[in-house]
Amino acid sequence: MSNCAIVGINWGDEGKGRMVDLLTEKYDFAVRFQGGGNAGHTVINEYGKFALHLLPSGIFRKNVVNVLGNGVALDPENLLAEIETVRAKGVEIDEHNLKISDRASLLLPWHRELDGLEEARLADKKYGSTKQGIAPFYSDKYQKKTVLAGELFYPDELKRHLSDLLEWKNLIINRVYGARPHTMEEIEEWLENYAYKIRRYVTDTGRLLRDAQNNGKSIMFEAQLGSLRDLDFGIVPYTTSSNTTAAYAPIGSGCPSVKIDEIIGVVKAYSTCVGEGPFTCEWFGEEAERLREAGGEYGAKTGRPRRVGPIDIVATRYGVQVQAATCIALTKLDVLSYMDRIPVCTHYMIDGGQTDEFPFPAVLPDAKPVIEYMDGWGCDVSSCRRFEELPDEARKYVEFIEERIGCHIGYVSVGPERDSIIVR
Ligand code: GDP
Repeated sequence: MSNCAIVGINWGDEGKGRMVDLLTEKYDFAVRFQGGGNAGHTVINEYGKFALHLLPSGIFRKNVVNVLGNGVALDPENLLAEIETVRAKGVEIDEHNLKISDRASLLLPWHRELDGLEEARLADKKYGSTKQGIAPFYSDKYQKKTVLAGELFYPDELKRHLSDLLEWKNLIINRVYGARPHTMEEIEEWLENYAYKIRRYVTDTGRLLRDAQNNGKSIMFEAQLGSLRDLDFGIVPYTTSSNTTAAYAPIGSGCPSVKIDEIIGVVKAYSTCVGEGPFTCEWFGEEAERLREAGGEYGAKTGRPRRVGPIDIVATRYGVQVQAATCIALTKLDVLSYMDRIPVCTHYMIDGGQTDEFPFPAVLPDAKPVIEYMDGWGCDVSSCRRFEELPDEARKYVEFIEERIGCHIGYVSVGPERDSIIVR
């Protein structure tokens, strides 16, 4: 059977979690391949409402094996808390349906602290970190200065390794930032309280997925954030510290040879953005507040109000290209029902010229949106289950976006619940 990746096309928060939750039914494995506890994938199903941070959104499906690949930022403390929260709602999680790559690097106690220290140093020049330690973690991973989950099986070597890292890290924590150094006792406590407790899930997930491929099993890859936050292709430096693109899924999952047959890009029917950086379509004041309220646009992890605005065709088409999306899921169409006319950003004005090409990051702050308006539909669409049931104006909106971004819209989501979906 074929493999699929579900990825974000824009700034994240597009509704990837609800799409993975819907579609995992057909898959044997659900894999997170990058990012960490800074994600907040909202899922609403028969168990309740969840904001998943690290667990793959396939965790609710009985026959799905969920994998945290080598590309994720594995924070044992957050993961254990999340497992407990989800279990408390009656979901079974054990070593049969959750597997952690032995090659996943561990997010260590100082990573979160360093995030806060650096954002405080940057003051008004900050990037808008979620302070989950993600940037310090990935920096250390690429400096080869963190430990692998598989090392948890070798405690003596692990402690020696951590003691070396601690000596180096304390130079930065104490001498650069003037904060209190960490001690080995604290690290040992952290190992006992958190890190060793995830050991039961740790295994060679590369082999697991290779075997799965050889046995004709199907894999769903679940990305965090979106194209515009990709470390290489996003709005640098306002990106996350990992690759959010489908092309990274084979590497970050531990199965570089895997072929992805379908890439479903998730796009929201309007734009939202959490954190700092240029956001060309941004609305302010009353109209922003109204859209934010209508869409419930507050961060799943941080509770921060999201920045909002109309859909940005320029950024979205770029996002589609970066992801090599084969199909689009357009979410939250229902949220736009209150608008008399629907704004769409079709082009940018830069240096007096109009363009539909997404510019280089350094140019982006100068871009001004060119807005076209489409007719609103003025009625509730949340009970529509077939495309033909949507009002003419709503269908035209979907078709217009489809044509401009150059990718088939195969799913239109009209509500957060699992079944509030139109398949085209
Ligand atoms: P993710 O990180 O990409 O999974 O997205 P988030 O979970 O941060 O944000 C998506 C939010 O929109 C969540 O609160 C979802 O429950 C909600 N949602 C998803 N699809 C729809 C939809 O079609 N309509 C409405 N009204 N809400 C939706």
